[in-house]
Amino acid sequence: MKKMKKLVVGNWKMNPESLLEAKKIVTEVKRGLRTIKNTQVVVCPPFVYISPLSGLQSDLLMLGAQNANADQMGSRTGEVSFSQLPQFNIGFVIVGHSERRKMGEDNELVNKKVKSVVSEGMTAIICVGENTRDNGGEYFNFIKEQISCALKDVPKKLLTHVVIAYEPVWAIGATALGPSELHEMSIYIKKVLKDLFGVFSSDMRIIYGGDVDRNNADRLVKDGNVSGVLVGRASLRPKDFVEIIKLIDSI
Ligand code: PEP
Repeated sequence: MKKMKKLVVGNWKMNPESLLEAKKIVTEVKRGLRTIKNTQVVVCPPFVYISPLSGLQSDLLMLGAQNANADQMGSRTGEVSFSQLPQFNIGFVIVGHSERRKMGEDNELVNKKVKSVVSEGMTAIICVGENTRDNGGEYFNFIKEQISCALKDVPKKLLTHVVIAYEPVWAIGATALGPSELHEMSIYIKKVLKDLFGVFSSDMRIIYGGDVDRNNADRLVKDGNVSGVLVGRASLRPKDFVEIIKLIDSI
């Protein structure tokens, strides 16, 4: 079976301030990716930049979306549907980011969104992660619950269109998890996927997010036993983002 590429996803959130800046970042990142062989790079800009940036996509860099509305077309003022995304060659959508969960997105809604994403032929990057860690290890059950709810009734043949992004909420915008703790969690997530859904780790990628930068990216991926990273702040700094991708590509 063909080995899946590693995956580096940039989540720009509500940045940058102008389309001009957005174009500069994408152009500079693309320029830095010419030697990349084993890594798929996805940049997720705010919706307003998707159409004007879509022409800049290439085999090296694809665009993703940060969210969409799980309902079909219709009366949803201010919303964008998943079915509106593929026309801009969007291949990936982040679902259930902790910042959206904080706005009220629960496991049930995340599941609805995951089903919409995969039914549109795109790949869902499902964010899971505990808010805090307890000494008794209850957070493992929390992650299991998030994964089992998110994937409920997703047809097995579509599970290859799913990426699990493990993002401990306490690490986002703060301090990264250590590689050995990540290794422990990635083994646990693989076991959950196998036990609950019969999925082998070679069929589904697990990536890590939370304070990834050029100083920790390769150790997190190599020693943490994951297939890539989800990058927030550093994805807006083209030099750093390219460095992260190169480090991961060379593993
Ligand atoms: C994120 O918000 O998903 C994230 C990983 O952010 P940062 O890399 O800035 O911690």
